[in-house]
Amino acid sequence: MAEAELDRSARSDAGVADPWPTGAVFGARGLEIAGVSAADLAARHGTPLLVVDEDDFRSRCRAAAAAWPRAFFAVKAFPAYAAIRIAMEEGLDLLASTGGEVEACLRAGAPGERVSLHGNDKSAEELELAVREGLGLVVLDNSEEVARLSERARAAGTVRDVLVRVVPEILADTHEAIATGHEASKFGVPLLEAVGVARAAAEAEGLRFAGIHAHVGSQLLDAEVFLREAEVLVGLLARLRDEAGLVAELLDLGGGFGITYTDERPVPIAELGLAVRERVGDACARRGLAVPTVAAEPGRSLIGPAAVTLYSVGTVKTAAGRRLVAVDGGMSDNPRPVLYDARYEVALASSRRGAAVEPATIVGRHCESGDVLAEGVLLPADLARGDVLAFAATGAYTYSMASNYNRVGRPAVLAVRVGETRRWLRREDAGDLERLETSEHRREPDASVPPGISIRPARPRDARSFLEFWRAIVEEGGHVRSESVRHPPRVYRARFRRAWTGREAQIVAADGERVVGHVFIQRDDHPITRHVATLGIAVAADLRGKGVGTALMSEALRWARSSGVEKVVLSVYPGNTAAIALYRRFGFVQEGRLAGHSRKSYGYEDEILMATWLGGER
Ligand SMILES: *Cc1c(COP(=O)(O)O)cnc(C)c1O
Repeated sequence: MAEAELDRSARSDAGVADPWPTGAVFGARGLEIAGVSAADLAARHGTPLLVVDEDDFRSRCRAAAAAWPRAFFAVKAFPAYAAIRIAMEEGLDLLASTGGEVEACLRAGAPGERVSLHGNDKSAEELELAVREGLGLVVLDNSEEVARLSERARAAGTVRDVLVRVVPEILADTHEAIATGHEASKFGVPLLEAVGVARAAAEAEGLRFAGIHAHVGSQLLDAEVFLREAEVLVGLLARLRDEAGLVAELLDLGGGFGITYTDERPVPIAELGLAVRERVGDACARRGLAVPTVAAEPGRSLIGPAAVTLYSVGTVKTAAGRRLVAVDGGMSDNPRPVLYDARYEVALASSRRGAAVEPATIVGRHCESGDVLAEGVLLPADLARGDVLAFAATGAYTYSMASNYNRVGRPAVLAVRVGETRRWLRREDAGDLERLETSEHRREPDASVPPGISIRPARPRDARSFLEFWRAIVEEGGHVRSESVRHPPRVYRARFRRAWTGREAQIVAADGERVVGHVFIQRDDHPITRHVATLGIAVAADLRGKGVGTALMSEALRWARSSGVEKVVLSVYPGNTAAIALYRRFGFVQEGRLAGHSRKSYGYEDEILMATWLGGER
């Protein structure tokens, strides 16, 4: 049974709905996407993993650009820079629902004029952003917004093109949380008031009335909804002309085009675009109106079907007769099943063993009984820990709605294209989750110096032993920036003559005459950053884990406090977990990550920037 279900060509011959990306193939190597094995991707990049079939996404963007005279990618469906760039390359403009999404579009390289901003409660900052960045369109939600945007555009001496969002008063057959076109919707102006608001916009200084906008809802499968919407809105265009003498150049019908999650059969976009444009043309002809430019705003239908999520199977158990399969993700990476009762098609991505299939319930790892990703899906009876499962059509409103619930990081996102893999988004790690924390509640650890070891400022005669110590650290590779020892002993002799000054401290851990650890801390010279010092620390391999690092760190921070330093910063390689643990104990938190900042002989390495405030944050 599973065999038949996963045979994609049989499925298309039989005219059965298919939620998998066009580049997905189920074969002897399990699931492959654009020629890349899903199980290999999972092994190499970890799970959960979102894998985008880039060519599929691109061709959906091209199809949308061809189907509509003007099309916008609703970036809220997946606001990664890579996705935004691809949509632009394929000829789409961009629709942002917040200032944050506008920023993402601009940072991804979009010129302001290709971005349209909507939203039912735009903040002052968002309206200012729209004016400052010269956004191509602002979709006004209500009459108050006419005044608020006009005031800002006038002050800036510019004119912004605006659409007036109306409630088309159409009830769509979709989940109520994503139906937006009904009378009680919080979005837009009621039809009866639309002419008045449009007139106000047309008369307001700093605004140019460009047309009408509506959006009925999301995941709509019935073409009739869009045709009715077109009728209603053309009726409004006639009233605009008759009652206010206004011409709407643009008729923006919004997005909401449904996709196949399991067995849904959406109307192909080319067909739908044609039907809607014909309907607009006919309705305009009946009323003697010039045909406006018809625009659409697809989000889900572009990125949704182009991506799959890979999970690793963990615990498999039976509870009350149901087979429960736990995977290493859940409502944090895909809240849609919990929010909208969304259903997904699930398949084994690892190569098949040919076992019989049985129903399974796929549960996530979160502390919620409701954390169920899929119910009653047919999967091999011998499914076991380590198997990789694929969820189809998870590109839209998964990552963009993801959370850090239970302090779980967001998954990595990769795109595959003709056998090649590109990283879109790095996996969120513990450091990322920490970057909003402050350091003020940390207590420093006790620093009892290990027996036989002394912690003291370096002396000139330590130079030779220090160099031996330092050479060994450098040769270990991977922990410090240096890959060779460049300076002769005399350089260190000179440095160690001034080992404890108001500007810096060079502190060693010594076992008799042998240097076994070293910390260097130096404050910034610039008057504005003189409260900051930078620190570097190393401990001989045979003395790690014995408290030498802790003792050196305490001494360095003692120097810092006595010198009036308030903040200490350092950089560390992500793989140096022992050092990171040491820094954490002293209240250091990650403040940033410098991608590829070190160019080592073996390749580029990221550096993590960590910092602590001495005596609490400002
Ligand atoms: C969300 C939204 C869209 C995109 O909806 P999809 O269902 O992803 O196509 C388009 N327009 C507006 C105004 C939206 O709010």
